[in-house]
Amino acid sequence: MAVAAPLTGQVALVTGASRGIGAAIALELAANGATVVVNYASSEQAAADVVGAIEAAGGRAWAHRANVAEEAEVEAMVKAVLEREGRLDVLVNNAGITRDGLLMRMKTADWQSVIDLNLTGVFLCTRAVSRPMLKARSGRIINITSVVGLCGNAGQANYSAAKAGVIGLTRSNAAEFAARGVTVNAVAPGFIQSDMTASLDKEPILKAIPLGRMGSAAEVAGAVRFLAADPSAAYMTGQVLQVDGGMVMR
Ligand code: NAP
Repeated sequence: MAVAAPLTGQVALVTGASRGIGAAIALELAANGATVVVNYASSEQAAADVVGAIEAAGGRAWAHRANVAEEAEVEAMVKAVLEREGRLDVLVNNAGITRDGLLMRMKTADWQSVIDLNLTGVFLCTRAVSRPMLKARSGRIINITSVVGLCGNAGQANYSAAKAGVIGLTRSNAAEFAARGVTVNAVAPGFIQSDMTASLDKEPILKAIPLGRMGSAAEVAGAVRFLAADPSAAYMTGQVLQVDGGMVMR
């Protein structure tokens, strides 16, 4: 018996989907039937390649450039999705950067740029989709945080503060939107192979991971698909799902 893909007919917007975890999420949601809007900041060709890979697999996607730290660009992106597709069912707030350094020497600009994108960007995108989702009385918002938002990390005060902020935002928004059928959850990856972690010294990292290896972007994407699809996560909201090889057990 053929079973319909769980996201068939739905539209998903994935921020920072040109590379790494976001690209894997875009591919996974498209493989499960969603039309995917591939947001990117500057990697136009990489975003086009993600769209191409989705189409080659029989899916539907298009790319949209927007800096998600810029209010006007976020508003224009969500408007473009609604004008073109007429609906928006899933938002994955994935775009993120690191500007690591010890606190004593951390430049204010490095603090601010990480907060602006990794925290304020999530606020701006969530606020932009909230009106259509609340009106439709359904929607899934999935925020990519990090285990360092739970446990902190030396050299990442800006990043861990932003990611902890995303967890607070997730829970507040979940409480606010629940009565209208919109769920808000977070996924907290540990160390995942991507451009973001490419230059890190892997030896001490691997020692701290009970499963003994870094995770793949596809493994994070699987958790996002679970949270996006019905009926798997219909009764979950305000939760933080860790995908970290057992690194942080609380
Ligand atoms: P990545 O490989 O560096 O990719 C970052 C993505 O974000 C790219 O698509 C990039 O687009 C996009 N982006 C950057 N600035 C943007 C902006 N201003 N507006 C819109 N998009 C922007 O990172 P990743 O490792 O896949 O990380 C994805 C998410 O997972 C981040 O939120 C990160 O904090 C989180 N995370 C990662 C790990 C890990 O181990 N990798 C662990 C925990 C959490 P362009 O290509 O156009 O620059």
